Amino acid sequence: MASSLYKLRREIVEAGRRVYARNYVASNDGNISARIDSRKVVITPSGVSKGFMSPEDLIVVDYNGNVLEGRKKPSSEVFMHLQIYKDRPDVNGVVHAHPPKATGFAVAGIPLTQCVLPEVIVGLGGIPLAEYGTPGTDEFYKPVLKYLKDYDAFLLENHGALTIGADVMNAYYKMETLEHFAHIAFTAIQLGNLGSISPPNVQKLLDLRQRFGIKTQVSCESCEKSDEGSCTVQAETQPAPAKSPQRNGSKSVDQEALIQSVTQAVLKQLAG
Ligand code: 13P
Ligand code: ZN
Repeated sequence: MASSLYKLRREIVEAGRRVYARNYVASNDGNISARIDSRKVVITPSGVSKGFMSPEDLIVVDYNGNVLEGRKKPSSEVFMHLQIYKDRPDVNGVVHAHPPKATGFAVAGIPLTQCVLPEVIVGLGGIPLAEYGTPGTDEFYKPVLKYLKDYDAFLLENHGALTIGADVMNAYYKMETLEHFAHIAFTAIQLGNLGSISPPNVQKLLDLRQRFGIKTQVSCESCEKSDEGSCTVQAETQPAPAKSPQRNGSKSVDQEALIQSVTQAVLKQLAG
């Protein structure tokens, strides 16, 4: 049943209040939208704090980006939102934010595809890193498109994060999961061991995805090869997202190899 436009406006306002309250955006960052029907989308205005919007502030656009209702300009990323609705008919809500821990991974060039948390493997599969593009232009969202069929959450290199879902709150909750995962992964890396779930156990979690009717398809990179060691997920229709790209002259970080060697060195020292 189609949600009423006012209900969608209220959900966007609530998601905006939460992303701001949880520090997933600063200042006027981020944007949120909902599909109204096959002709219209409702989206946040550009350049306003997403923490203090009212339902009347939101903008209704058609799929060409023409404003149908609202006094302000639509988000500068409106064409990214529209393209997502065109390419993913199952998606009715989109949230873009700059949550600090996840954006830290996006700046470091590290995707969150490691198999370390059950709820992430089941709910999201993994979180690939889409290459950088200038905000407010086609370049910004084109790199996301190649991952769009296979994932519901994305890191945007040197920018932020993007989540999509069956409705606005579903997309918002995926943003919470994404940032929570980034926080936990960051803590584990600092503690010296980003421990993976074993490939056979990852496979069981991937099987649960099918049972829950999750349509996006990923597989475990190591599952077919061994029943030991660490693993990352990869989309079945895409090449594996870069694990630790060499970029901007920064060090290539093969986290797991690095962490394993650090852990082994520490254990050796402790053993005397
Ligand atoms: P808008 O306020 O125009 O939506 O831009 C915020 C943003 O995060 C751009 O990437
Ligand atoms: Zn942004």
